[in-house]
Amino acid sequence: MSKQLTLHDIYLARRRIAGLALRTPLLRSESLSRRWNCEAWLKLDNLQPTGAFKLRGAANALLGLDPAQRARGVVTMSTGNFGRALAYAGQRLGVPVKVCISRLVPANKVEALRQSGAELVIHGASQDEADLEARRLRDEQGLAYVPPFDDPLVIAGQGTCGLEILEEQPDIDLVFAGLSGGGLVAGLGLAVKTINPATEVIGVSMNQGAAMLESLAAGRPVQVVEAPSLADSLGGGIGLDNAWTFAMTQRYMDRGYRVDEVQIARAMLHFLREEKMLVEGAAAVGVAAVEQHRLDLSGRRVAFVVSGQNLSTETFAEACRLAGERPYENL
Ligand SMILES: *Cc1c(COP(=O)(O)O)cnc(C)c1O
Repeated sequence: MSKQLTLHDIYLARRRIAGLALRTPLLRSESLSRRWNCEAWLKLDNLQPTGAFKLRGAANALLGLDPAQRARGVVTMSTGNFGRALAYAGQRLGVPVKVCISRLVPANKVEALRQSGAELVIHGASQDEADLEARRLRDEQGLAYVPPFDDPLVIAGQGTCGLEILEEQPDIDLVFAGLSGGGLVAGLGLAVKTINPATEVIGVSMNQGAAMLESLAAGRPVQVVEAPSLADSLGGGIGLDNAWTFAMTQRYMDRGYRVDEVQIARAMLHFLREEKMLVEGAAAVGVAAVEQHRLDLSGRRVAFVVSGQNLSTETFAEACRLAGERPYENL
């Protein structure tokens, strides 16, 4: 690691991204507090303008570039919440954003990216080929390559979420967050553990393809076999050449859990029914982990990062089916 990130980087990020990304509310969940005999708080990053916390890191990455680089523009390969966030931040800041995607990206995602203002470069038949094209454009056109998680500015931006939680409720005992590439847990963990080392940071992934958890178990970044999941925003690897998030997750995350699809489905339905919120699977994994692993939270103060709400009707219907609900009959 060339340089260590500190809480100072997160404060700088916070000042930069103010006005682009929201400082989101931390609301008490009456129903979860009652159910687990605890104080449960929901950090509502689903309310960010692009529907996910990723805007924090994307905005900080663009704002951290020098003016000449901003004028030339940036390129990424993320088709999910990060690509959308980068496109939005680029449009707001007048920075040209190219997103390289493979021919296999589904039409609804392509449309969402196009509407967010990105220039799409369709290349290759896999995510890896699209990524190679992104790196080629970086070299050929002098664009800055902005990766979705393994980048110090992105991590510092995501860290502002953790800073806000402890500013609002300094005596939180545990924080749950979805874990994929680890940008969120690395940044949030840095903020939370620096402010209060006693606060536990817990990362949660789906059962199949939990790249960071498998890498931590192996002691080095490893490749995993992916499978479709309700928590589709948690898919993808951590990169075999991971430079930042692997080491930071190792250092700042206290525990990791995996959750089944059925538990994710039930947790999503909990959000709909009790919190009156429609959230994506990746945002519901913390609640799923408490249920599946029967974690004893009694008397404790617990925050859950509700990380996003970008959900297709098909995925929501699948969640209802898995949870044993018949939405069209009950709604
Ligand atoms: C990206 C994402 C995550 C996981 O973040 P990482 O930084 O990749 O670990 C969790 N929830 C949502 C909604 C996401 O889009």
